[in-house]
Amino acid sequence: MVTDKTVYIVGAGFSKEASAPAQEDLVKKIFEIDRDHPQEFEDNSVQKFRAFLTNVLLVPRKLHDSIPLEDIFTPLDRCIADNVSFRNLSVKDTLNTRDLIYYLIGKTLECTLRSSAKDYIDQFAKYITDKSSARKGHRYANLDPVSVISTNWDTLLDDSIKSQISTHYPNNAVVDYCCHFSSFEPNDQSVMPGLEMLGLGGFSVKLLKLHGSLNWLQCPKCLRLYVDFHNRIAIEQYMTPVNCRYCDAQFGKQGSHKLISNLIMPTFLKNFSNPQYKLIWQAAGIELSEATRIVFIGYSLPQADFEMRQLLARMVRKDARIVVVDYGDPNDQLITEKRKRYEVFFGKRKPEFFLEGARQYILNLLEE
Ligand SMILES: [Zn+2]
Repeated sequence: MVTDKTVYIVGAGFSKEASAPAQEDLVKKIFEIDRDHPQEFEDNSVQKFRAFLTNVLLVPRKLHDSIPLEDIFTPLDRCIADNVSFRNLSVKDTLNTRDLIYYLIGKTLECTLRSSAKDYIDQFAKYITDKSSARKGHRYANLDPVSVISTNWDTLLDDSIKSQISTHYPNNAVVDYCCHFSSFEPNDQSVMPGLEMLGLGGFSVKLLKLHGSLNWLQCPKCLRLYVDFHNRIAIEQYMTPVNCRYCDAQFGKQGSHKLISNLIMPTFLKNFSNPQYKLIWQAAGIELSEATRIVFIGYSLPQADFEMRQLLARMVRKDARIVVVDYGDPNDQLITEKRKRYEVFFGKRKPEFFLEGARQYILNLLEE
């Protein structure tokens, strides 16, 4: 089978044009929302976070805005993984603190993106959904033109694809996260694994979210992954915990199978031992190995993202065409640094650069 295949790799810059905050601004954004719209957050949640920064991390209040997420999550996750206390916090308190920060981050993204200008994301969703539809009618063995790998938690693209499907291909397509997942709402036929839909003669739109998603929850007992497109379930479970309905049926209602968020946080020791993430990362490797063209949109290829870099180093073909979409003046220092990073990394596969941003790139794509 020799066909052209494009894999899009989307990072923070992809959502940024729809006004998503950059990761380094998330903590600042939490405090901004709390100042301007305090009713958005559960009572005391922001105060508890401030108390953690002040009393545990010993960061004075005037510096709260600038603490990097890595400095929060790297010690928390290490203590949880090694089952040791973190300063004056017991292991259980440490887990609760991580839950609290998960909630604040999720809620902050949700508030910021509620009314975002995401027309270009809708158009991109339409483009990849239409492309993927070539696979319907059991033609998937010979056709696989496109997939998207994302490092973002937000569901801007997921929601746009879902709405394309509901409008143009109802009951005929699904968003495929390329792992084993179940619908959060029982009997929701619009959520099913991609292979199941392909078997039914429909098609799937592949979206591989390497760091998880705000519309996922996982059962800590059976490790099933639940997906919902109507609610940001990873945020809501902080106030209204939900149990795994399969484990409820097998073991009775118990706290041991309360669903939890499994987002991968920015730390220097990310834990991908979770079997669902193993599947996603393995599938991402296969997608990359099949790609004749790889388009990075708003992804800066940082050194800290070494898991992604090793995946790219291992799996991208030597004849793959590399395109990098970013926004900025070519002479800007950040852009020249980024450019250098890509050029050194991909070497002979000379990356091409498009510096007019994601929105413009997608508009051009549709005109082709
Ligand atoms: Zn379960």
